[in-house]
Order: sequence, then structure tokens, then C-alpha cells
Amino acid sequence: MKEIKHLCVKPGSEVDLESIDPEFCGGLDKETARAQTAEDLQALEHLQQQLYAEDKRALLVVLQGIDTAGKDGVIRKVMTGFNPQGCVVTPFKKPAGEEVEHDYLWRVHKACPRRGEVGVFNRSHYEDVLVVRVHELVHGKRLERRYDTINGFERMLTDEGTHVVKFFLWISQDEQKKRLQERLEDPEKNWKFSEADLKERALWKEYIEAFNIALGRCSTEHAPWWIVPANRKWFRDWMVARVLRTTLEGFKMEWPRTTLDLTKVKVK
Ligand code: AMP
Ligand code: MG
Repeated sequence: MKEIKHLCVKPGSEVDLESIDPEFCGGLDKETARAQTAEDLQALEHLQQQLYAEDKRALLVVLQGIDTAGKDGVIRKVMTGFNPQGCVVTPFKKPAGEEVEHDYLWRVHKACPRRGEVGVFNRSHYEDVLVVRVHELVHGKRLERRYDTINGFERMLTDEGTHVVKFFLWISQDEQKKRLQERLEDPEKNWKFSEADLKERALWKEYIEAFNIALGRCSTEHAPWWIVPANRKWFRDWMVARVLRTTLEGFKMEWPRTTLDLTKVKVK
């Protein structure tokens, strides 16, 4: 983990994404990274089983990133380490229907994992300080207060047993161009293309600024933000798997003990 320690945002620090190389790969090569990821995924499967058996706490994984950064890819490649029974993935789109009638945390809180579960958010409450900031859907004090509210919300989740870990997938503008181009050219990727992505791409600078602010203000000891250099998909997957493994190992879980005297129980 020491090669990626600096990618965990220190609480209260200023973030400048431009100073981080999206090509960074910590001296790893693709083959080694893929092999280590495979091992980490096996470890994750075991750790998740313990989490489920223990039924005491939950893990919430938040994924954010600009369009094409690889949120879906991480879910496909890394979250497959988890047993579907006990892992719930929730994508957050533009709020609609009942969601609009409530505060911005309403839909998010409802989607938080139960005890024993891993919850994965594909986008999250952070959209409410990202896209909302960029498009000025909310501004002034109401927007500014949201950062503290989010920190308080995550504090409460942690206090009540839900551990929060957040990943920002960081790709370069050139890499995004390449990936959008692929979506246009590859018939199997056409479905992912949306004209809206081009409009958002034109707001690159505004998005980076909004991410800088959100990552800086909302990385806390209990709910840290990790910046994942994501131009290389194999490094992205390696880093997410490694951080998740280390996080779950940090729980120091034990298999629950039965109160039965097993020496007296017979399987007939
Ligand atoms: P995708 O993840 O590509 O399916 O796109 C989902 C879209 O929903 C993105 O453009 C997000 O910015 C947008 N979205 C998600 N949450 C919110 C929100 N709270 N307010 C406005 N737009 C949102
Ligand atoms: Mg999209």
C-alpha cells in the first residue's frame, strides 16, 4: 500500500487533481498487477463472507468520476469479487419522480447497505455538489452547507456501523476523448454514447474544480477519498481491489462463535 498512500486525500488538505498523473501505476506492470488483483479478489470473497456471517457492520463503497472514467468497469471487474448475495449496487441518475420531492440524501440513505452487506454506489450524493455545482442548480449558502452536511451524514453512518470508502477515478482529458471516440466507433459500445457526455466534456475545467473542492472538503479519517489514477484500467482495478482488501482486513473480523455445545450435537 505504500506506493499509493499519497493518493488518499488527507483530511483538510487542498486537492489539485492536475498535479496527479492519471497514468501513474506505482512502478507496477500489467501482468503483476493482474495477478495481484486476482489474489485480492479471492481474499475479498472470503472477507465478505465473514462480514455477512458477522452481521455487525456494513461497507459502503462510493464510486465517482467524470463520464467514461470507468465506474462501470470497476463494478464489472472488482465487485465481482463479492458474492451477489450480500452486495448491492445502486446507480444514481438525475433525480426523478419522488426523489425530486425529497431532500438530496433521501434516496441515498435508503440505498445504504444493511448490516453484513457491501453497498456500491455508482455515483452518489456527491453529484449534489458536483453536477449541481457545475450547472448552478443550487448555489450560495445552501450549496456550501452541503459539504458539512455530507460529512455529518457519513459520520453518522460510520458511528452506526457502516464503514465508508470513496474512490474518485481520475482520467485525463485525452483519455476521455479516446474513450468517447471508441463509443462512437465500436458497435458494441454505441449504446454507451450519449450526446450529453459531449456537453459535459466541454465543462471539463468546471468539473475538475468541483471535484477538487469536494475531495478536499469531504475526505475525513472515517470516510476517506482515494484518487485512483485510471488511464490504465489494470492499475485502476488493482488499486480499488487493494484498498478494499486492506479496508476489510482492518476490520479484524472473526467467524461468529456459536453458543451451542457442539460436542453434544449429532448430525444423524
Ligand atoms: P450515467 O451514470 O452515465 O448513467 O449518467 C447519470 C447522469 O445523472 C449523470 O449525468 C449525472 O450527472 C446525473 N445525475 C446523477 N445524480 C444527479 C443529481 N443529484 N442531480 C443532477 N444530476 C444527477
Ligand atoms: Mg454515461
